[in-house]
Amino acid sequence: MTASRRLFLKSAATGTLLAPVTLLTGNLARGEESALVVHPPDHKTGEVIRTTGELLPTGEFLREERRLVPVAGASEVLVCGGGPAGIAAALAAARSGAKTQLLEFAGCLGGVWTAGLLTKILDAGNKSGIMREILTALSERGSHVAKETDGTVYDPELAKRVLEEMCVGAGISIQLHTLVVGAVTDERNRLVAVITESKSGRQAWLAERFIDCTGDGDLAAQAGCQFDVGLSENCECQPMSLMALITGLDPIEVEPYLRETESAAKQRLYQLMQKAGINPSYKAPTLRYLHDGIFSLMTNHEYGVSAFDAGAISQATINARKEVFEIVEGLRKIGEPWARIAVVATAEQIGVREGRRIKGRYALTGADLVAGLRHPQAVARAKFPFDVHALELSGNPDVVEQYRKRGVKAYDIPYPALLSAEVDNLLMAGRCISGDFLAHSSYRVTGNAVPMGEAAGTAAAQSIAQRIMPYELEWKTARSNS
Ligand SMILES: Cc1cc2nc3c(=O)[nH]c(=O)nc-3n(C[C@H](O)[C@H](O)[C@H](O)COP(=O)(O)OP(=O)(O)OC[C@H]3O[C@@H](n4cnc5c(N)ncnc54)[C@H](O)[C@@H]3O)c2cc1C
Repeated sequence: MTASRRLFLKSAATGTLLAPVTLLTGNLARGEESALVVHPPDHKTGEVIRTTGELLPTGEFLREERRLVPVAGASEVLVCGGGPAGIAAALAAARSGAKTQLLEFAGCLGGVWTAGLLTKILDAGNKSGIMREILTALSERGSHVAKETDGTVYDPELAKRVLEEMCVGAGISIQLHTLVVGAVTDERNRLVAVITESKSGRQAWLAERFIDCTGDGDLAAQAGCQFDVGLSENCECQPMSLMALITGLDPIEVEPYLRETESAAKQRLYQLMQKAGINPSYKAPTLRYLHDGIFSLMTNHEYGVSAFDAGAISQATINARKEVFEIVEGLRKIGEPWARIAVVATAEQIGVREGRRIKGRYALTGADLVAGLRHPQAVARAKFPFDVHALELSGNPDVVEQYRKRGVKAYDIPYPALLSAEVDNLLMAGRCISGDFLAHSSYRVTGNAVPMGEAAGTAAAQSIAQRIMPYELEWKTARSNS
């Protein structure tokens, strides 16, 4: 029985038994294979659907044969990416009554907050709704530092737990360890399914509305949307940084170097490092006290790394981890109060500041931020400055410095910037929304990603209930966050 089933699955994977099922742009050929009995891979016994293919003569490509992809779930709203934007999108959709599925690549929810060990939530002070709920939970359940900072300086482990509780409590179906690798659109160019890869093999997920919260805009790219990357056609992006947790310091003795003490603390720490012969690749190293002898440290930049190149990201991660350890060892050699400094953890995911900015129905610009844009369909009001971490070790191009000098006036993030210009049932939230390089350097912070996610999730659910497309929905600014 098992052997024959194995054979059957293998031949199904090569496509020899079936009429083809379109997994590229085009109709899903529902029913064409209805006469066939196909078993999904067995997650208990470890059965898989095998891949077969043919190496092309050039050796540069392998043609994978068409194969069946089991449908793992059908929801009303499918959220891809469970970072700050994604959890808010899923929570808002589920609380609005939509059957909601959340897919996340890491082994936890929270994105850069948790897998990235961020420890600071910026531009959140004026936000209500889900952002306020999270801050309250992190503050009430967190350390005295979390309380003193209204939850904006938080413990990433507690954040993992809080986010899981909130999402489970809202009835969201969650699958971690799952990477979105493909998307299927229909003849109207609307998304029909998302394809994932995980320990369960390749899976398909159906939904009515899709929200790209992958940070890098992976889903929108797979759906064929247009996008921009970086400052110019050369795609220069902000550097990546690997965050670390540190211990072995006395918070009173190192107080002058703590970011929450005063902004000059970063410069002080940099000078201390230089005196000790340490030359960090990030010239504004940031040390934060979290709780009970645990600190967070951001002290490195990896320049010129593409968010879409797994090999380059891997190398950047290895370089950055080496640099973190070298810096900590260098600080230890200074002696008291650094004599016992040690690394507790480095982030599982190097912090990626920039990926794709997906073309939306409105593109937020640097000029909008300078002017303090007011928009009738605002989902949030942001205040964070232009924050472009040096594109290269030597610094930033003039255009960036000019904008930085002109400064940001509190501005609205418009709902249409969350709507794909090309795929009607696709929304975006977080750092992959529609905007230019300079605007992104401000709106990308997590105090804005959360209200964007909340708006996208609410709009997705409401548009289903009203039987209209998200772009036909009139977003009511009255909700919150302005
Ligand atoms: C080093 C660093 C320091 C920063 N400092 C701060 C700070 O102090 N405060 C602040 O507020 N902001 C800070 N930012 C900015 C901020 O973290 C990001 O812009 C923010 O995380 C945006 O949230 P997001 O949900 O859009 O993206 P992310 O946090 O990146 O979340 C995206 C999620 O999607 C998942 N994902 C990605 N691709 C896929 C896929 N194909 N399939 C499935 N899942 C996928 C990821 O695993 C992740 O969980 C910093 C960023 C970096 C990199």
